[in-house]
Amino acid sequence: MSINKILDLLYPGRCPVCDRILAYRETLVCPDCIGKLAYIKEPKCMKCGKQMMDNETEYCAGCRDKRRYFRKGFSVFLYNDVMKKSIYRFKYANRREYSRFYAETVCRCLGKEIREFCADAIIPVPLHPKRFRKRGYNQAGLIANEIGRRMNIPVREEILIRERNTKALKLMTLTERENNLKKAFKMVKNDVKLNTVIIVDDILTTGSTINEISRVLRENGIKNVYFVALASGADV
Ligand SMILES: [Zn+2]
Ligand SMILES: [Zn+2]
Repeated sequence: MSINKILDLLYPGRCPVCDRILAYRETLVCPDCIGKLAYIKEPKCMKCGKQMMDNETEYCAGCRDKRRYFRKGFSVFLYNDVMKKSIYRFKYANRREYSRFYAETVCRCLGKEIREFCADAIIPVPLHPKRFRKRGYNQAGLIANEIGRRMNIPVREEILIRERNTKALKLMTLTERENNLKKAFKMVKNDVKLNTVIIVDDILTTGSTINEISRVLRENGIKNVYFVALASGADV
């Protein structure tokens, strides 16, 4: 019996959509639940990959208004009610196993794009150490590691740290968010001289967190920054 099968028996997986325990983890999601997920589709923003209302413009409002430090990014799922509940349990109810389904879907839908980035490393959006201790894991780190393993790209979690415990971003205006993010991230070392990296996060809202991280990475000599997010809201 493989180690994965033993782990499956010891820790049965749950469906990331309905949270039901899957009888035997042959699949990572109930077949009935797959149809409840909404995928990002065209037209997409040429820069951040957000789903747009129409294809009259190439870029979403955020990418038109702000300087972007990343080259390009994509997300897989539309951040609708189903995905909101799923990611909530993933972050706050210890459903770490969801990362397998999430990463598998990311690689299935964006494998070609990820390969074309030719990245030297994947860097997950870090949590502040205090929040990490409280939660016991970094949800973006779990997804990043699963993607890295599947795509054979090293994950460098230690390279970026979060110094400021930013407040709940959803309660702030865009300007407040951006001020709050300043000096939130610090790169600790670039010893292997990384040129191209992919940032991984769970949810993309305004893109300000990923943009700020991209700025810091570029400032530290990384030339090309791309990102992959699990879910993003549509451009409105
Ligand atoms: Zn289900
Ligand atoms: Zn955009």
